[in-house]
Amino acid sequence: MPATIIDGKVLAAKVRAEVAEEVAELGHVGLATVLVGDDPASHVYINSKQKMATAAGIEAFDHRLPADTSPDDLLAFIADLNADDAIDGLLVQLPLPDHIEEHTIIEAIDPAKDIDGIHPYNAGRLMMGRPTLVPATPRGIMRMFEEYEIELKGQRAVVVGRSNIVGRPIAQLLLHANATVTVCHSRTQDLGRHTLDADVLVAAVGRLHVVSADMVKAGATVIDVGMNRTDDGLFGDVDPGAMERAAYMTPVPGGVGPMTIAMVLENTVTAARARREKLAKPAR
Ligand code: NDP
Repeated sequence: MPATIIDGKVLAAKVRAEVAEEVAELGHVGLATVLVGDDPASHVYINSKQKMATAAGIEAFDHRLPADTSPDDLLAFIADLNADDAIDGLLVQLPLPDHIEEHTIIEAIDPAKDIDGIHPYNAGRLMMGRPTLVPATPRGIMRMFEEYEIELKGQRAVVVGRSNIVGRPIAQLLLHANATVTVCHSRTQDLGRHTLDADVLVAAVGRLHVVSADMVKAGATVIDVGMNRTDDGLFGDVDPGAMERAAYMTPVPGGVGPMTIAMVLENTVTAARARREKLAKPAR
């Protein structure tokens, strides 16, 4: 029997509706996005985030800076947004142009506004099992597991990819959910030996069909994060033939992608709530 499709579009619409309700309750939620340069894919992502944020009632500020913006100017720009009380969530679209060191910029974002969850404070909290703001893609994946009632406790989870934005944080979240987690990467030998063992497989590599159908365990849950643009369209990291072996699988497109944007909005609301609570507390 082919896999049950984990429908990211439907679930993302549900998350966005929940976000809209929360925004209405909070009164005002502000999101600032900063895009430096003219990477075409980044423009597409920012346009979607802006559009979806506005549709959910979030006030979205869309900052686009030229590719030759100096690191100091970008740092000053971020400092202003950090200090701006109308902004609850601040997102700097990556990748940045080569002359700007990403980690310097990431570390300049107020952790309380870091809705990408990549500031070392938020990443460290996640590693210690006390998550604050968690990167959107991994959060979206966890929401899929919840929604489709996928058992994680005691299951073997294999994550392929170890980026700070997907691989590492999803591995941490799976570990907190009591899965037994293996993380594979470009130096892993015999990838299939690991993936074939996976009850839950997350592929976040960015290489077309790096996981072939015969590398997937029968009955597994497969989450395909990969987005590989080709002349024939958008494809994932997992060969769609794996649908015949998996019990649950995300499609590409229409799986993890829409969930990521929805969870960026949810993170913005989470940041807004936390900031309100902090502001309501008397200063010590
Ligand atoms: P990165 O390029 O930062 O990381 C890729 C990871 O894959 C690295 O850890 C790398 O290993 C590993 N890798 C590369 N080649 C192999 C291989 N042959 N076998 C096993 N592992 C390998 O990518 P991201 O994590 O940012 O993104 C991964 C993919 O997910 C991309 O296609 C991206 O577009 C997509 N993506 C999709 C999102 C969505 O919303 N759908 C959101 C974010 C990303 P090493 O560390 O050793 O180099």
